Amino acid sequence: MTTMVELRDVHKHFGPLHVLRGVSLSVRQGEVAVILGPSGSGKSTLLRTINHLEKVESGTVEIEGELLGYRRSGDRLHELHEREILRQRTRIGFVFQNFNLFPHLTVRQNVAEAPLSAQKRSRAEVGILVTRLLDRVGLADKADAYPRTLSGGQQQRVAIARALALEPKVVLFDEPTSALDPELVGEVLEVMKDLARTGTTMLVVTHEIGFAREVADTVVFMDAGQILEQGPPSQVLDDPLHERTRAFIGKVL
Ligand code: ADP
Ligand code: MG
Repeated sequence: MTTMVELRDVHKHFGPLHVLRGVSLSVRQGEVAVILGPSGSGKSTLLRTINHLEKVESGTVEIEGELLGYRRSGDRLHELHEREILRQRTRIGFVFQNFNLFPHLTVRQNVAEAPLSAQKRSRAEVGILVTRLLDRVGLADKADAYPRTLSGGQQQRVAIARALALEPKVVLFDEPTSALDPELVGEVLEVMKDLARTGTTMLVVTHEIGFAREVADTVVFMDAGQILEQGPPSQVLDDPLHERTRAFIGKVL
């Protein structure tokens, strides 16, 4: 199967803090990778490098074989122009912990914004797309509502519809249910399961072990800026190689 996301030996510092210490990770088309790890281990930074929201200092990130943020010439890498980086970013959907919806836009406008402005698609075409996406996340009846009138679970489902609007190659989720009241977590996980079933390539940072067990093709455990271990859920969750993985899973279960 095609490799969709490929990180090779990625390093990243924030000042003196070495946050990503040589991360290599490969996710194939249609796979779901769940990333676990303690707070501060570099999970968000890892996702942000895949969207080029953080520049890597060494190593490379490729999406479907295309180098992110740089072009190769001989052995050297040259940084791409902002416009090119923005084009690359449209191939990657991102769902944040805090939804990040545009508060002054309706649900429909939130989802329509990127295809209208970034892709210059026609209003008629985008209208059909938005209707289909809102239907998919179960919010067809909320198209004209403003985000503040929705529950957290509904807002996150809008954010997922918005992330899908550019038909991304891969969707990144950074703790998508962590800000939700417990009774609203399930409806968001259901939408994510549906995406997984229909072949969406997903990288999901979450502490929802049940979701990992049910949906993940691969579970990645990060600790102190490195991938400590990676494998099928049954292996990493039930029979981890490292004591630190075991201790972490024990705490979040
Ligand atoms: P996680 O998502 O696993 O909790 P993060 O990737 O957010 O971890 O952070 C990893 C480390 O990098 C933490 O120590 C955090 O404080 C630090 N960090 C993250 N973003 C920045 C930033 N923009 N500037 C400085 N330090 C940062
Ligand atoms: Mg984080």
